[in-house]
Amino acid sequence: MNLHEYQAKEIFARYGIAVPQGSLATSPEQARAVAKSLGGERFVVKAQVHAGGRGKVGGVKLVTGVDAVEDAAKGMIGQRLVTKQTGAEGLPINSVWVERPSNIARELYVSALVDRTEEKIVFMASAEGGMDIEEVAEHSPEKIKSIHVHPAAGLQPFQARQLGFFMGLDKDQVAQFTQALLGVYRIVNELDASQVEINPLIVTAEGQIMALDAKLNFDANALYRQKAIAEMRDPSQEDEREREASKYDLNYVTLEGTIGCMVNGAGLAMATMDIVKLHGGQPANFLDVGGGTTAEKVTEAFKLITKSEDVKAIFINIFGGIVRCDLIAEGIIQACRQTGLKLPVVARLQGTNMEKGREMLESSGLKITPVSDLTEAAKTVVALANG
Ligand code: ADP
Ligand code: MG
Repeated sequence: MNLHEYQAKEIFARYGIAVPQGSLATSPEQARAVAKSLGGERFVVKAQVHAGGRGKVGGVKLVTGVDAVEDAAKGMIGQRLVTKQTGAEGLPINSVWVERPSNIARELYVSALVDRTEEKIVFMASAEGGMDIEEVAEHSPEKIKSIHVHPAAGLQPFQARQLGFFMGLDKDQVAQFTQALLGVYRIVNELDASQVEINPLIVTAEGQIMALDAKLNFDANALYRQKAIAEMRDPSQEDEREREASKYDLNYVTLEGTIGCMVNGAGLAMATMDIVKLHGGQPANFLDVGGGTTAEKVTEAFKLITKSEDVKAIFINIFGGIVRCDLIAEGIIQACRQTGLKLPVVARLQGTNMEKGREMLESSGLKITPVSDLTEAAKTVVALANG
């Protein structure tokens, strides 16, 4: 689960990481009032969406005077912001964060995340902040330094100092940087953050270390014990179908293809997407309906898949181990009738009661093609999707 920059900055401040002074506004008038109360001549107005890359597309504006703050907010609130990280539809801007501008001397990059291979928290830092860190990682990986934290020892100040000196900070700045990094580590541990990214972390002309941007991501499996974090969730920033799916305990991810996939088990779901691609098709989604699925879940899954106008055919690939194939068939038929489905469906049911399931599909009178061989099923659905 992601937070907005303003929420992340509030958390940063609580954990001893310096951030610019600012406040949230949900209307242009409020933005003006915020600027007035901050005082001074110049302000930064920042669109609050769950995505980075805002600076390059007008989502971060440095302006002079409270009138300009109001204008900038007017141009943002109610619009959708499309950045490199959002996809073509963009995300709705419902609020702006108005803050004091900083006197930037240097823009650095720092992040902490879970390294699953090493089973440790890894900190990464680079003197090349403010820009695309993915590009730095690709073209000049030597400009990024990583350190792993031993889970029993925790982040050691000497490790933070190593990163600080690597980025060319002086002694006083390294001391501030170390404090900030220890705060980041506490956020990871105490709040179950799975990713903390500060890009840019700046050195001001006065030599102060400060977080100008803030990205926080939380482990959804830990939200049951992080009530305060869970309450900060903003559903308007989430994919509508993924949000709907989570209500029914379905693991769903929107993709860009034309073949809707409904599978049980994450491994089989991935294999299904692979084989669809192998035969020239593009999956429209990843969907794992779970091991002990029910007819109701199958119906909800169908509704989700068919919400997208890009979907031209549906591929159902179910292994009946815990769940019986006839129950799945019943769910499919019920879902097709309920949703008035017009799309062609290829169904591969294997396992317990597969014959019965197959018979039910065949005699349903619906546009469902039962296929038992996986390769044949994939080829059939690709052909149907291509019209
Ligand atoms: P994004 O990563 O979404 O583009 P950032 O918050 O990183 O948004 O802002 C983009 C750039 O705008 C920063 O790299 C920095 O140069 C500038 N900027 C952001 N906030 C401030 C601020 N308070 N004072 C001065 N410059 C800022
Ligand atoms: Mg940024």
